[in-house]
This record gives sequence, C-alpha cells and structure tokens, in this order.
Amino acid sequence: MKLDSRSWALVAGCALVAAAGVFALSQAGFFSTPDPSSLWSWSLDNWETTAVGASGERFRVAHEPLALARNLALISVAFIGVVLGTPRVVEIVTRSGRGGGAVAGGAPEDFAKTRRLIDGELGTILTLVRSHLDSNKTYSAALVKGHKELTTTTSPDQIRAAIVLLIAENQKMLRETEEHQRRLEDSQRQITELRAELAETQELNVRDSLTQVFTRRHFDDTLAREAKIAASSASSLSLIMADIDHFKKINDGHGHLIGDEVLKNFARTMTKHVEEKDTVARYGGEEFAIIMPAVSFAEAKMAAERIRAEFENKKWAIKGGAPIGRITASFGVAQLAPHENAESLIQRADAKLYVSKSRGRNLVTVDADLSPR
Ligand code: GH3
Ligand code: MG
Ligand code: MG
Repeated sequence: MKLDSRSWALVAGCALVAAAGVFALSQAGFFSTPDPSSLWSWSLDNWETTAVGASGERFRVAHEPLALARNLALISVAFIGVVLGTPRVVEIVTRSGRGGGAVAGGAPEDFAKTRRLIDGELGTILTLVRSHLDSNKTYSAALVKGHKELTTTTSPDQIRAAIVLLIAENQKMLRETEEHQRRLEDSQRQITELRAELAETQELNVRDSLTQVFTRRHFDDTLAREAKIAASSASSLSLIMADIDHFKKINDGHGHLIGDEVLKNFARTMTKHVEEKDTVARYGGEEFAIIMPAVSFAEAKMAAERIRAEFENKKWAIKGGAPIGRITASFGVAQLAPHENAESLIQRADAKLYVSKSRGRNLVTVDADLSPR
C-alpha cells in the first residue's frame, strides 16, 4: 500500500501552512527580542480598557488583537494534521479490514507493512502538531522577556498596563497549551485503538471463521517454516491429513447447517487430541490437516487413531428429531523425509488418505517411507 495523492497533498499542505505561520511570526519579530514600543504600536489603535491599580490609580490596558489572531492561527494549524489526518488513518484501516486493500487475505508481511505505513502517517501528524506547540512555547518566552524589558520603561501607567497584558496573555497561552496536550493524548489513544483493530483483522485472516482452526494460508506458511526448521535441526515433523467420510450425504440428508455443526465438532475433536505446538488447519471443505513438529509418524498415527475412534463413537442426533447415525473420517499420515519439501510431504500424506478411502474409509493409513527424496 502506498500513500495516495490526497495523503501527500494533506502532508504538503500542512507543511506549507506551518512554514507560512513561522515566516509570518518571524516577520513580526517573535523569534527575536521583542521591542516593547513596537508591541504597543500594533495594539493601541484597536482595543483598550481601563483598569484600577492597587492604590486606586487608573491606567489603560491594551489588548492585542494580533496576538489573539496569532494564537488562533497556531491552534488551527496544529489541529489541521489531526482533523484531516485521522480520517485518512481510519480509511486505511477500514479498507484493510473490509477486504478492499492489500491487507484482506494478505500475507503477514502485508499486515506489517500496513502497520508501518500507519505509524509513519501518524508520526507526520504528531510531528506537525508538536512543532506548533513549540511555536506556542516560543511565543510565551517572548512575552516573558518583553515583560522583563518593560520594567525599564519609566511611565508607571505604561508599566502596569504592560504587566497586566503580558500576564493575561501568558495565562491564556498556558490554558491553550494544556488543551492541546489533552487533545494530543486523545489522538494517541485513538491510534492505540486502531492498532488493536488491525491486530484483530489479522487474527480473522488466520482463523477459519466456521471451525476456528487455522486457515489454509496459515497452514501453508507454517508447514513451509516447520519443514525448514526440521531439516536444519534434523528433528522429525509429521503431517496428518483427514477427510470426513460421505460428508455430502450428511448435507443432502440433514441440511448444510447440520453439516456445519459436524465440521465444527470434527475440528474440536482434532484440537483436543494434539498439543498446543501442533497446527490444526482447515485444508479445504471437509478436509483438515495437522502439522506436528518433533513428532514421528508412529506417534502421529496414534494421535490420528485417537481422533478417528472418538469421532466414530459420537452419538449424533438432531434436537427433538431422529438420530443421524454414525459419522466417520479417514486419515493419511506421513513424516518429513531428509531433503523433502512441504509439497512432497502433503502429497504423500494425501495419497495415504485416499488409500484409507479406497480401503473402506474410517481408517488411518501411514506412509512409513523415510528414504531421502
Ligand atoms: P468422501 O467420503 O469420498 O470424502 O465423500 P464426501 O461426500 O465426503 O466428499 P465430497 O467431496 O463428494 O463432498 C464434500 C462436500 O462437502 C461437498 C460440499 O458441499 C461440502 N462442504 C464443503 N464445505 C462445506 C461447508 O463449509 N459446510 C457444509 N455444510 N458443507 C460443506
Ligand atoms: Mg469427504
Ligand atoms: Mg473431501
């Protein structure tokens, strides 16, 4: 997935506005030592009120419309990134989750890539916001400095007015900075939620929605990986292939919903008889597979036998209806031979499964051949 032209335009637009803001501020003298008289010169024309001092004397308080405008501009620009950027992130994750983008049905690398891109985009937004928070701090520092310099001014009226103004401006800026930080924290919480949603989407792609065992894609990835590990460590690796017998008759005789229940039950039975490290997967339709690392074909055969026997002995009945009768499954087992790849192992286990079928079903057949391929 790549950033599209809208995303780039957003980032570039924010950067331009930010640059323009910084340029305007520098022109107005905010990044250099402020000149108190020039501070006055912009504000006296516009907005003045009168205040009463501690000893009852009256003095003018000049408010700065330009300072207010500047604060508002900084706040606006800081939030452009969050306001415009967050919907983009939501759009990317939603597209990923609903099957429109690179993620749906994608390999684990696609998920990792999407996560990195989301992180990058959010990083851009946060950097933008932080840079404006820094500008605000600079502004506060300039006001403090101006306040100090004004103490050298001789007219008491002007000094008092300047102090009242500068303190008010500073307090306002502090309140706004706190608000910025609160919103930033909100946005960071949202990012955390989006990440969790992405992880959930990933899990959905790995688990079969009906039976909750692993998907065929996950099976293929796991078997390829385990075959390499077994070859490099000279440890054993076995594979069981299983297929429910005459499953079409169950569907035809009792309906697809009952067929689905049988599939779920078979998946649970298989999972019950293997260990956590083993991978139970739905290979396709009513065919399943179990990858068993560090297990010989003799041990895998015993596990397949336990599954076969338990499944055969289940008593099936529709609630309030007639019994369904016996349901069975057939199995093929093979162990990875030296220099053998995953595909060849699947073919050998599958061939033995069909031997079980051809010999009457409800059987486990093992390929005991371990000669190098
Ligand atoms: P065999 O003993 O030779 O394996 O015969 P079978 O009837 O089990 O095999 P066949 O390949 O003829 O039929 C498999 C059926 O499984 C056909 C298909 O409609 C059904 N099936 C595949 N996936 C599902 C599913 O998710 N739910 C249900 N209910 N049926 C499914
Ligand atoms: Mg079948
Ligand atoms: Mg089948």
